[in-house]
Amino acid sequence: MPQSIAVIGAGVAGCGLVAQLRRLGVRSPISLWETGRGPGGRASTRRSRFDQHVAVDHGAPLFNLTSQADPALLEPLVAGGWIEPWTGPVACLEGESELKLGKPDAFGLGRLYRGVGGMDQLCQGLLAIGSAAGPIDAHYGTLVRHLAKVPGGPWQLIGREGDPLAEVDWLVLGSTLLAHPRTQRILEWPEVPLKAAAAALNDLQLDHVLTTIAGIRSEARSNALFVLPAAWAEPWLALPFRLLHCDAAAQQRWGLRRITIQPLADGRCVVVAHSSNAFAADHLDVYGTHSAIAQILQLPPDGGKEDTVIAALQQALVQALAPWLGDPSGDASLWQSRLTGLAQPERQLMRWGAAFPMAPGLPTELMLCPQSQVAFCGDYLAGEGFGRVEGALRSGEALARQLSLQGVG
Ligand SMILES: Cc1cc2nc3c(=O)[nH]c(=O)nc-3n(C[C@H](O)[C@H](O)[C@H](O)COP(=O)(O)OP(=O)(O)OC[C@H]3O[C@@H](n4cnc5c(N)ncnc54)[C@H](O)[C@@H]3O)c2cc1C
Repeated sequence: MPQSIAVIGAGVAGCGLVAQLRRLGVRSPISLWETGRGPGGRASTRRSRFDQHVAVDHGAPLFNLTSQADPALLEPLVAGGWIEPWTGPVACLEGESELKLGKPDAFGLGRLYRGVGGMDQLCQGLLAIGSAAGPIDAHYGTLVRHLAKVPGGPWQLIGREGDPLAEVDWLVLGSTLLAHPRTQRILEWPEVPLKAAAAALNDLQLDHVLTTIAGIRSEARSNALFVLPAAWAEPWLALPFRLLHCDAAAQQRWGLRRITIQPLADGRCVVVAHSSNAFAADHLDVYGTHSAIAQILQLPPDGGKEDTVIAALQQALVQALAPWLGDPSGDASLWQSRLTGLAQPERQLMRWGAAFPMAPGLPTELMLCPQSQVAFCGDYLAGEGFGRVEGALRSGEALARQLSLQGVG
């Protein structure tokens, strides 16, 4: 009898896991639970219901593969037209204003790919590949808030209002959110949901996993995004890069880590300024109206604070790029006044509280706890691609193998 599986989190790892389970012939009922409006997580694309051309990669703008063997899901993703090689020019800003063309950072090494029409197509593609081999019961806009289990019984998934969501044999966490003490600090939850559930289970391996996850720290990012009208786009599109990263000195000088230039199909252009870790750490209390955390907490917009952070990132962006933007005034004031004049949704803040896990992460031998039938995947698993899309995808594939070896379905 196939055992049922609930996967919490429709990021690259969760979507990769369900796709690979289906490709391996696992017949179990599989449900996928995601608090966001759609799949993607940190590799998602902001789209607008009112503006069909707007597609902004406000998290990962691309991904790279650095290990020799490709993930098993790469070939079907490329063949299905979901992802394509990324060939945009990259550059490095060194110090105050030294531009080194063609010099990648750790995210630009190896083979580069992006979603066709937006990074969210990577997860959409994974779900399409999985669904072609068997049903995936996806629930979006649903926060799993509590977990419960008695030894030998099923896992219970419980919603924000204490409402029962599902009962399953196997639970998979495709994110650390329900297992990490940061939720107590950031979300003001009184307990760590998986730790509370584990108290009844007497599973030493699970306790070890929880202790290890609790020790994983993360870097944050505050990203400002600007949608520029076609009439202003030309100087930005003429920049000699689509992706700029800043070396340590430039990060310290400008508070920026990366800048991406994303052309839109109708001639407009999106500019995303990724903050440095230090800048984000200084502004952790400013979420951005559209950040996942603001939606989970159902926070009211705080336009004033948000605008201050956007203004700081904007100033750094425009001043750092002034030598290449051809501002006739020479002091970047033209672009300052233009960008300041943009209003939501053309000017937004996206705060990623846990943007990048910091090494060493959760060892792969701990990714599955057979006694309690709970398992883990995500970029927080140690190994090749740690902290990147590659690691998330590989962890999903590795867990699919392990679950099928357990004979789940
Ligand atoms: C600004 C930024 C830039 C980046 N740039 C790059 C890059 O250039 N290259 C690269 O390789 N990587 C990059 N990354 C990292 C990359 O995005 C991540 O490594 C990868 O997307 C992680 O995927 P994941 O599935 O492990 O986790 P996530 O994408 O975080 O997915 C977890 C999902 O679980 C959901 N979730 C969590 N808890 C619950 C719950 N209780 N109930 C319901 N849903 C829940 C979340 O909403 C989320 O969608 C970047 C990340 C950021 C933030």
